[in-house]
Amino acid sequence: MLKIAVQKSGRLSEGSIDLLKKCGLKFTNGHNQLMTPVQNYDAQILFLRDDDIPHYVQDGVADVGIIGENVFLEHQANVDVVKKLGFSKCRVSLAIPKNEKYTGIDFFDGKKIATSYPHILKSFLENHGLKAGIHSISGSVEIAPGIGLADAIMDIVSTGSTLLSNGLKEVETVLVSEAILISSLSLDDQQKQQLEQLLFRIEAVLRARDFKYILLNAPNDRIEDIVSILPGMKSPTVLPLAESGWSSIHSVMSESKFWENIDQLKNLGAQGILIVPIEKMVL
Ligand code: ATP
Ligand code: ZN
Repeated sequence: MLKIAVQKSGRLSEGSIDLLKKCGLKFTNGHNQLMTPVQNYDAQILFLRDDDIPHYVQDGVADVGIIGENVFLEHQANVDVVKKLGFSKCRVSLAIPKNEKYTGIDFFDGKKIATSYPHILKSFLENHGLKAGIHSISGSVEIAPGIGLADAIMDIVSTGSTLLSNGLKEVETVLVSEAILISSLSLDDQQKQQLEQLLFRIEAVLRARDFKYILLNAPNDRIEDIVSILPGMKSPTVLPLAESGWSSIHSVMSESKFWENIDQLKNLGAQGILIVPIEKMVL
């Protein structure tokens, strides 16, 4: 039995639940539920506050968990980081009142900085040989300079609009974060095997996210040129169309690579291009 901890509600919940469901785990995630069995796999899902997950995994209350790297680094729990998961991407940055002149990182020497990430801030300051006061608060960090509680803040930034509306500007990125899968150091053999299985499925889902199935029609005399810019998992599939002189070419490639090559494909005579999502991809 594998107990999997995910955030109950917040910016990690949807991505975490979506990933587990795409891995084929069937469970209900109704409101006010603390725990739910997985119907088709020997596992349970625990819905918790994200800040509690690192220590619950360390203590064996949960066996694996999905959290933000920022929370992992702040809580310093003794757990394994198994995999970066590619969602809930954000950064933790230092920000100062927007009218202050920013001259570089020495700005922070001797200043007072408000944050809900005191450990991350402490090690950042130490790494840069800076001495600054750390004012640890749990929420609404961005109002601290305005009410005279601090000279600067360190907090999660995504678009920067919250900073702006509080008269602040972002000046240093301290870390970039995304969701990660962590696991307990004391899994038994069966749980280790289950984690391997889960990881195999997660990798298939993550891989598929970056790739698309591409179908296009091309004149036969251009097949060779087109195939040379379409990589495919092994090599592209070429099938004859009912109309003579034309073929359908199928390939798998990363979406960004596809967009890089779209003009070239069209110039080579490709038509009727379809870009289809892939649900899972096992190599
Ligand atoms: P909880 O009540 O569970 O403690 P919380 O208020 O601490 O929730 P959220 O705001 O839901 O946390 O954020 C959870 C995690 O999602 C953060 O620790 C961070 O890793 C990530 N995150 C935060 N803000 C964003 C954002 N704007 N975009 C993407 N990811 C984010
Ligand atoms: Zn939290």
